[in-house]
Formats: sequence, C-alpha cells, structure tokens
Amino acid sequence: MKKIRCPKCNSYTIFDETRYEPGQRLVFVCEQCNKQFAIRINPERQAARNMGTVIVVENAFHFRQEIPLEMGDNVFGRFVRGTGINKPIETVDPSVDTRHCIIRVQRAGNGELEYILRDAPSGTGTFYMNQILRNQDRIRLADGAVITIGATTLILKATPSDPQ
Ligand SMILES: [Zn+2]
Repeated sequence: MKKIRCPKCNSYTIFDETRYEPGQRLVFVCEQCNKQFAIRINPERQAARNMGTVIVVENAFHFRQEIPLEMGDNVFGRFVRGTGINKPIETVDPSVDTRHCIIRVQRAGNGELEYILRDAPSGTGTFYMNQILRNQDRIRLADGAVITIGATTLILKATPSDPQ
C-alpha cells in the first residue's frame, strides 16, 4: 500500500499501487477538499539498466517522486497534459516551467557515467548548489548533487560506475 498526500490540504489517501502498471498515471480526488491531482506509478527500475535516479523532494506543491534517468537528454519540467518532455514532474509549483532543465547522461571514455546539467532555458532559472546557471553553463554533477528549479528541489542519485 502507498500513502499519498493531497497537495492542497495535506490529507492522506491510501491506495494499493500493486493493482496498477508501472508508469501508469492515476488521478485522485481528495476526499477532504475535492482537489483533483495526479500521480504516476514509479516505473520498475531494472538493475541492469540503472542509469541513476532523480529524487523530487516533497514540498507543499507535490509528493516525493523518484524519476529514473536514461541515456541522453532527460528533460525535466512540470507535467501538463500532452507534455512533450520525457521526465515530467507531477507538481502544481507554478515556478517550475513545463520545460525547465536537462540532465544529460553519457558514458565517458573510461566507461563511467557522466551527468551534465543545463538550463532548458527556463523563466525562473536552474540552480546548482544555490548558484544560478548561465545559458552556456554545463555542470557535471556528482552523486547527491542538489538542483533547485522554482520552489522544487531535485537530488541526483548517481549510479556507481560499473567496471567495463
Ligand atoms: Zn485535499
């Protein structure tokens, strides 16, 4: 069973996530305040293809989320209907753009995974360790890197380098 919190009134709803497919999007209506909100069932992480994860820290606008990364550009932003990005965040944070920042996952010459952050560009900016990125900035992220977009905090959980 899984506990989710209403982004408006903070009351909890319990549901059985095992009844749904990984990656499936569910819409809830809060029994307390009638707020409608959506969540996505976390896609199953396949250990063999684990490229790292971005943790979306819970705040007043959304619940905690774990978003698996993939090779190439991972484009983060606020989920909207018909979104064209591959890493949408379920949030009502108005200061998160629908296309906000990008983490590029690539393999370096020595076989290690690299995580490169850039701004999309966004209206409110992308911050790495509380420093705003300039348009041309490409920031190489290490495990545990803290990224701020709007009022939303992202934490990188990097995959340890695998010997190749
Ligand atoms: Zn509510």
